[in-house]
Amino acid sequence: MSEHESGGGFSLELSQDLRDMRDWVHEFAESVIRPAGSEWDEREETPWPVLEQAAKAGLYSLDFFAQQWLEPSGLGIPVAWEELFWGDAGIGLSIVGTGLAAVAVSSNGTHEQIAEWLPPMFGDPGDIKLGAFCVSEADAGSDVAAIRTRAVYHEATDEWVLNGAKSWVTNGGIANVHVVVASVDPALGSRGQATFIVPPGTRGLSQGQKVRKHGIRASHTAEVVLDDVRVPGRCLVGGKERLDARLAKVRDGGSNREHAAMKTFEATRPAVAAMAVGVARAAFEYARDYALGRVQFGRPIGQTEGVAFMLADMAAAVDAARLLTWRAAWMARNRVPFNHAEGSISKLVAGETAVRVTEQAIQILGGNGYTRDYPVERWHRDAKIFTIFEGTSEIQRLIIGRAVTGLDVR
Ligand SMILES: Cc1cc2nc3c(=O)[nH]c(=O)nc-3n(C[C@H](O)[C@H](O)[C@H](O)COP(=O)(O)OP(=O)(O)OC[C@H]3O[C@@H](n4cnc5c(N)ncnc54)[C@H](O)[C@@H]3O)c2cc1C
Repeated sequence: MSEHESGGGFSLELSQDLRDMRDWVHEFAESVIRPAGSEWDEREETPWPVLEQAAKAGLYSLDFFAQQWLEPSGLGIPVAWEELFWGDAGIGLSIVGTGLAAVAVSSNGTHEQIAEWLPPMFGDPGDIKLGAFCVSEADAGSDVAAIRTRAVYHEATDEWVLNGAKSWVTNGGIANVHVVVASVDPALGSRGQATFIVPPGTRGLSQGQKVRKHGIRASHTAEVVLDDVRVPGRCLVGGKERLDARLAKVRDGGSNREHAAMKTFEATRPAVAAMAVGVARAAFEYARDYALGRVQFGRPIGQTEGVAFMLADMAAAVDAARLLTWRAAWMARNRVPFNHAEGSISKLVAGETAVRVTEQAIQILGGNGYTRDYPVERWHRDAKIFTIFEGTSEIQRLIIGRAVTGLDVR
């Protein structure tokens, strides 16, 4: 094959395996998730029957998650999540929410911790389980360094004791395994934090208030209260030796970029961007099809420049968001550092695209777009989350601003 034919070593073509996986996930999203979206949005409950179907199909499983996470191009997760969220974002988040807890353990944990704690986060098709990643608190949202939940080590029993309250936890209180970020040395801010696994059934962990939301209502969000929660020493993610070495380095004034929660969010940003791309694409496709069928002034509205230009902008924005997402995902998988905040760029652009494109879809559907008889109003409500969680758009701009100016922008 000539250099030209092989793309000169650069390719945006998905492998056959990825295309097969994409088509398989799409088929599930189209036949199972999309038809159930409205019902579970109204019910505002975790869609257990859909999760069961996903588990039976092998889609909600540690195997599928690990296979896509380790897929060599890095595009396994973005391709799969785009299809799921094309189906429905609330149900999609119920299926992938465990992933954040799994990444928190797999990206910082020891081999033993990964082998012990990832399986009980997913369960099996006959007995589904969930995982939850608990970082945010009432007074520590964007400002993760302000976390007040404390973890204190008791050497005599080799136990950590956790106390505090977490806000906004996806799967909070209904998860089998909770992964909690807590401060072990408050004086060190985010550099004095560590991540802990709270095993199933641990006393002292309970669900607080369940949150009633604007969108992604099929995904459960709740407070998690930690009242003298005792976990064995082996539940400190990464182990005590590594934590002690890290803290000693920080106390000696050494630089340390290993912030417990931040590392997880860095790794998962392209995945969140892919979710937003899925919602935006769904809205674009729906609005395009509607514009071909809806006749006003004797011709399809898609034939008017006003609507066609809107569709053109929507199509361009979705493609641009996807390309930025794929770039970041490829970089993350291939250990190319985000020196220019490429992860944040993908999340910022995809999140804002989803909000804009779903709003444009409502506009194209006119009055129908504003009703619950059509899905675009729901998708617009769902899309808004992508400018808020896993770092708001402003926080992404801070990170990008620092990267492009080299200044300590605050
Ligand atoms: C549905 C949902 C699910 C969630 N799931 C989880 C989860 O599973 N686990 C978890 O730990 N958390 C979760 N979160 C929490 C989420 O990550 C936080 O809501 C988010 O980080 C923002 O924090 P905040 O809500 O406290 O807003 P704030 O930090 O109070 O921000 C309020 C506003 O101020 C802006 N702002 C703040 N600081 C700055 C600054 N320095 N410069 C410019 N603007 C700034 C923000 O951008 C925002 O517009 C979830 C939230 C929601 C809504």
